Amino acid sequence: MTCDCNRLGRWPVMTRRAALAGAVGVGLAAMAPAAALAGGHCEALLLTCMDYRLDNEVTAYMDARGMRDKYDHVILAGASLGALNDKFPAWNEVFMTHIDLAVQLHEVHRIIILDHRDCGAYKLVLGEAAVKDPETELKSHVAQLYAVRSAVLAKHPHMEVEIGLMALDGKVLQIV
Ligand SMILES: [Zn+2]
Repeated sequence: MTCDCNRLGRWPVMTRRAALAGAVGVGLAAMAPAAALAGGHCEALLLTCMDYRLDNEVTAYMDARGMRDKYDHVILAGASLGALNDKFPAWNEVFMTHIDLAVQLHEVHRIIILDHRDCGAYKLVLGEAAVKDPETELKSHVAQLYAVRSAVLAKHPHMEVEIGLMALDGKVLQIV
């Protein structure tokens, strides 16, 4: 299976790097990221919330796991809540469709769903009471993460589904 990374989003990165390379007189081939040139296989599909505060933390977390340039990334407000809720039903289909595509294009065999603390989407969709204190907040996330994991497994029984909750300092609580 061929990789669509180039068409689906790696090129803008390469284009910026190529522009930089040109500016300093370095050849394009030397600057091209290896992953963009390699074949089509990703380790995982990551689902996170859109929250701007955690962009760097999410990247750092995946880097620390040795996953740099090895995962597809889907972003929905609320992460697991965005993937499965009654308020924005279209989003449910978006997530599931992206899993199908990630399997088809990149042979993805693992889904990582990463919720986070102090999530505005949880307050908006479920109400303040659902996240009123850290313990209640954790329970709300665990229930939602379990529900999405079940929904994914119902459609992709052999998929590995990993779920977790990120604190605002970037630390991740793995949920089993
Ligand atoms: Zn959020």
